[in-house]
Amino acid sequence: MALEFGAARSLILENITVLEAENVALLSVAGRALAEEVVAPGDLPAWDNSAMDGFAVRAADCDGSPLSLVGFIPAGGSSDGVEVRPGTAVKILTGAPVPVGCDAVVPIEETEPAGDTVRVPGPVRKGSHIRCRGEDIGADAPALVAGTVLRPAEISLLAAFGRQTVAVFRRPRVAILATGDELVEPGQVAGPGQIVNSNSTALAAAVCEIGAEPVLLGIARDDRESLREKLRAGLEADALITSAGVSGGDRDLVREILPELGVREVFSGVAIKPGKPFAFGTRGSLPFFSLPGNPVAALVTFEELVAPALRRMMGHRQPVKPFLQAVLAEGVKKKPGRVHFLRVRISQEAGKLVATSSGIQQTGFLSTLVRANGLVYLPAERGDFAAGEEVEVHLLGSDML
Ligand code: AMP
Ligand code: MG
Repeated sequence: MALEFGAARSLILENITVLEAENVALLSVAGRALAEEVVAPGDLPAWDNSAMDGFAVRAADCDGSPLSLVGFIPAGGSSDGVEVRPGTAVKILTGAPVPVGCDAVVPIEETEPAGDTVRVPGPVRKGSHIRCRGEDIGADAPALVAGTVLRPAEISLLAAFGRQTVAVFRRPRVAILATGDELVEPGQVAGPGQIVNSNSTALAAAVCEIGAEPVLLGIARDDRESLREKLRAGLEADALITSAGVSGGDRDLVREILPELGVREVFSGVAIKPGKPFAFGTRGSLPFFSLPGNPVAALVTFEELVAPALRRMMGHRQPVKPFLQAVLAEGVKKKPGRVHFLRVRISQEAGKLVATSSGIQQTGFLSTLVRANGLVYLPAERGDFAAGEEVEVHLLGSDML
């Protein structure tokens, strides 16, 4: 009996160990998950500073009478020795420290400078255009939690805190093995009955895309010796992915050989389409993913079952991609029993995401996966779907529609 999809994904995640942390230069941490709790080392901003180019003033003085200019503070300049008394103002640039005695900054375009005076016509609110010390993040406040995936925004904050390195979780080395007597490598001439091993390259790209490191093991033939040797090499990595050789055909030996190599099978077979023959096991902390050979099934099972596991190994706080809501453009025929992952084009119409089939859904059609930018999740228990029904969808790759 094939395992239910949600149960399969949970079982996989339960069997995953997060990799160790390492200190990495800030320039190289984009996309990595933070392995420490980051607390603000000081106030941000560190001192009151101007949010505009203009004049630092005392708000109460701004009744339209001319104020005499008593100084100029550029960014990087100091306000030491500059004191604003009643009836005076200081020219100031964005980011420069606000001098003692001032309680507002007036943007230059709202003023009338004339020689060594400036007139501020309107009433000025106290505190306006001043960024106060610590108002962004105060000293000792929690700033970033462990497991956060570092984007430019988080990296900007770490740099602002003066960090040059940060602890992030290690990226797994993911071994990829294709199996099958019919396979030749890209660039080799495929003879009669032979096909090109496209899965290894595709899976390597998928592994790179989520920020892990692929290790290509080539092709194992459908015989015990070849499989044993290649699988053994794969067990040196942090995770191992094979494609083909699991569907229960005569020559599908992967599952037979695994126990000899110390791999414990956790389950085999998931109630999904495509991807039913998917199997999962472990050897110590190494997860082993056995994917179907069909290129569409291999990539769909990677996206839905392998990627969450690798993200957890990399310490992501949220390893499972959240679903978005979309509306089906047309009806879909389906028998209850398995989750279907439908290859679709997602477009935006009147503020809603609309999912349109990208073409023939048979597993053998890679072109419909190429055209797809989403996978619609159709629950196992459901039969046919009608046009206009709300469904859940995972965007594939980039989130640009
Ligand atoms: P199998 O899982 O061995 O029954 O293979 C299912 C289908 O996937 C067959 O048509 C295989 O030829 C094809 N296939 C298996 N391995 C690969 C691979 N590495 N690259 C492309 N197609 C493959
Ligand atoms: Mg085969």
